[in-house]
Amino acid sequence: MTSTVFSGGQIFDGTGAAPEPGDVRVENGRITEIGVGLSGDVEVDVSGKTIFPGFFDCHVHLTMTTIDTVERLNTPLSYRFYQAIHNMQVTLDAGITSVRDASGADLGVKQAVDNGLVAGPRMQISIAMLSQTGGHGDGHVLCGAQLRVPYPGAPSGVVDGPDEMRKRVRELVREGASVIKVATSGGVLSPISDPTRGHLRDVELEVLVEEATAAGLHVMAHAQATDGIKAAIRSGIRSIEHGIYLDDEAIQMMLDRGTYLVPTLLAPRMVVEAADSGSRLSERVLEKVHMVIEAHTDSISKAIDAGVKIAMGTDSGVGPHGQNLRELGLMVDAGLTPTQALVATTKTAAELLGVEDDLGTIQEGKLADLVVVDGDPLDVSQLQQNIIGVYKNGESVAGG
Ligand SMILES: [Zn+2]
Repeated sequence: MTSTVFSGGQIFDGTGAAPEPGDVRVENGRITEIGVGLSGDVEVDVSGKTIFPGFFDCHVHLTMTTIDTVERLNTPLSYRFYQAIHNMQVTLDAGITSVRDASGADLGVKQAVDNGLVAGPRMQISIAMLSQTGGHGDGHVLCGAQLRVPYPGAPSGVVDGPDEMRKRVRELVREGASVIKVATSGGVLSPISDPTRGHLRDVELEVLVEEATAAGLHVMAHAQATDGIKAAIRSGIRSIEHGIYLDDEAIQMMLDRGTYLVPTLLAPRMVVEAADSGSRLSERVLEKVHMVIEAHTDSISKAIDAGVKIAMGTDSGVGPHGQNLRELGLMVDAGLTPTQALVATTKTAAELLGVEDDLGTIQEGKLADLVVVDGDPLDVSQLQQNIIGVYKNGESVAGG
């Protein structure tokens, strides 16, 4: 068995401990030893560099490449999957070796990566976002056109009432979903929905969580409105995505239930940047993004101060893929230390996805997803530029 040793560098192990000198030996895609002065069949000299656990982005849309309405209307369905090949490679280039796809990627995309047909991060897929009629996942536009057309492998996410909910979750499980995504409030990019209004009633969410749990899956909730956030927490949903209008009660509920928060601070900024660079968006969408952006940062800061568990997510796809690590700078601006932002991108993210036995920290026995970084490891603003090598299962997938 060939062994590879990453030698001469220091290790940021993902637990929050300060970086320490150490070598990492990899065999058969796993970390088999950590120590000083290790030797192996192949040596990768990382002197002066820092080795991180592979990064996570807990909220991406790999098959989404533009939010420009005219472009979306004129893009063939299958073209999205070819675009995803590029999106996945630039995600790896950013050191992201694991993602949770928050709708868009289907089982074919995941299998193509798992089978080595195309390069990409490990992924959990939600396939379609469940939402009520007129909710954030309803692609109905006012002229009557549909922006989201179901196809084999990706059922419609529009669902009303507990019976439909039960069936739709089962359909998603049948199609290979590894996580269930629901919109418990309106959102910014949907044509009409109101980000300040809670969507779906408790009776629907209870069935959703019951069915997902029975299938062994976690649930993630796009939740912006205060009411929608609280309904999601009450029903036992594992993570609140965006969390734009958190109040003190919602924060306390998250602490009591151990609910994770995936801030996606980059998301509204990417919408503004897209609009500034000429993306054609409706007046209503532009109005919504400007309405939420300040409340969003304030909410996340309050949650951070209170000690809510934070996992890194960006909503990449709303803006360009591959800029994922910008989120760390925004999380630091909102109150995390650089080390905490890095833990949110490694250990805590792995816990949210339930893969902490294999990923998220650099420990003997874990999968060898590693990122080699030059320069100051805690300078998160430069992290992306400083990446010189990315390894998944011990194999080079970017840089180096
Ligand atoms: Zn999203």
